[in-house]
Amino acid sequence: MKGWLAIAGLGPGADVLVTPQVTEAIEQATDVVGYIPYVRRISPRPGLTLHESDNRVELERARHALQMAEAGRQVLVVSSGDPGVFAMASAVFEAVEAGPAIWRALDIRVLPGITAMLAAAAQAGAPLGHDFCTINLSDNLKPWSVIEKRLRLAAEADFAMAFYNPRSRARPEGFGRALDVLRETCEPERLVIFARAVSTPDQHMCVATLAEATPEMADMRTVVLVGSSLTRRIEREGDPIVYTPRSVHV
Ligand code: SAH
Repeated sequence: MKGWLAIAGLGPGADVLVTPQVTEAIEQATDVVGYIPYVRRISPRPGLTLHESDNRVELERARHALQMAEAGRQVLVVSSGDPGVFAMASAVFEAVEAGPAIWRALDIRVLPGITAMLAAAAQAGAPLGHDFCTINLSDNLKPWSVIEKRLRLAAEADFAMAFYNPRSRARPEGFGRALDVLRETCEPERLVIFARAVSTPDQHMCVATLAEATPEMADMRTVVLVGSSLTRRIEREGDPIVYTPRSVHV
């Protein structure tokens, strides 16, 4: 059988948010490769081998997947959300670029998924309804000085922002520093949405102002959305609706 490699996004958590294209690829695969919690989202079945790997071994995992596809296996590399957003698609292509020429001839496809910020934005209303940017706050793969520069300039340009990997036990202080950088430019009333475990049974949404926001409101299962200066809140019973209007008038 001819081998292939598909790099698929499993969405933010709920089964209904997995695309039919990804479901079909899961059904056709002989091997699923990925970080342990993501591989555990795939139901075992005869003929399917699940390869769980630890975090932070992305390139090794990518090479393993490519080697299996080269050997004729039908390999699915899984990420949460979308595989092109701080996830495995880039790792696979880094491995292809540095690897043997034969890997470039493989059938490789990227199957998109619903990324965390879009699932979170939909829960909140439409906070990303105008220009926005996305920043990974983890300094595992880039220096903090780059993160801080991007934050400062994005705030100055009045983008709405989505922060992935805001805070972990290994990096407890970074998110507090990020809030301090925002406070240099943004007004205290700026809206900040903490969306935790969106679309899972553990989902928790919290809308705060920048003045109210504290580092403890985020963890590694949280995506943080910061509004632009125009983002507003519609109060109603239960959670408010947060949205950014479609137009900017100067
Ligand atoms: N490829 C993934 C992102 C991987 S980075 C995607 O497109 O969504 C991991 C980060 O994603 C987490 O630290 C968190 O910030 C965010 N994240 C992933 N799933 C989430 C969910 N269900 N709810 C909130 N944030 C989530």
